Amino acid sequence: MSIYIDSHLHTGFSADSDTAPALQIERAIALGMPALTITDHQDFDGPPDVMDFTFDTDAYWDALLLLKEQYRDQIDLLIGVELGLQTDIPTDLASYAAANPFDLIIGSTHFCDGMDPYDSIFFEGRPEEAAYRSYFEEELKNLKAYDCFDVAGHLDFVVRYGPNKNTYYSYEKYRDVFDEILKVLIEKGKGIECNTAGFKAGLGHPHPAEAILKRYRELGGEILTLGSDAHVPRYLAHGFDQIGGLLKACGFRHYTVFKNRKPQFLPL
Ligand SMILES: [Zn+2]
Ligand SMILES: [Zn+2]
Repeated sequence: MSIYIDSHLHTGFSADSDTAPALQIERAIALGMPALTITDHQDFDGPPDVMDFTFDTDAYWDALLLLKEQYRDQIDLLIGVELGLQTDIPTDLASYAAANPFDLIIGSTHFCDGMDPYDSIFFEGRPEEAAYRSYFEEELKNLKAYDCFDVAGHLDFVVRYGPNKNTYYSYEKYRDVFDEILKVLIEKGKGIECNTAGFKAGLGHPHPAEAILKRYRELGGEILTLGSDAHVPRYLAHGFDQIGGLLKACGFRHYTVFKNRKPQFLPL
């Protein structure tokens, strides 16, 4: 049995990784992965006090196309991006997406209320539940506003960073906003990802949590990529041994890999 294809990982093109892309590719080959999608951070127009999460697009293509060719007999290297979604920014994200032949565009919300939820200031002066809700509403706004993505990234990743993490968190508490997010995505023909970094963060569940994965399936959602969100090779495919059973229990029989922004369905 071959290992699931990892469709969310970072390399040194991301501000928060210094991993050479070749090291991620070699790790994937060692794990027996038939394909791999690199998705570095491209977060245009971030808040002024936050690290710059953009990369040089020309340099990205130059480096990754060379590696794609170099490793073509060993692995199908797919070239994606984790595109930061924000409304009211000067950059035209749709034009950027259209101008670049990515295999996969993950649309992620990394900023909210002018802050990065990774920074504890995001939770200061308000209850944790209000901060989480504000983030989920921001995601809804972004996912409604844009079509230039294929799957929504790590829907509930904000719960990694709250003072109590996921202790008091549940799908039911935010059902109204999650249901709207999932319906918007399904209507648009967009998917979600099962992001296993939640296991690495000690939450015991992927992003989003099982109840949301299950709800997405119940509402008719089928497009589901798998991603470890690894920033270093040792976390590539981290948690993938746990998600086959978990996703089947949520009603899925297939997962999705995007090539030229077209979904291909593979058995779980
Ligand atoms: Zn992300
Ligand atoms: Zn990521």
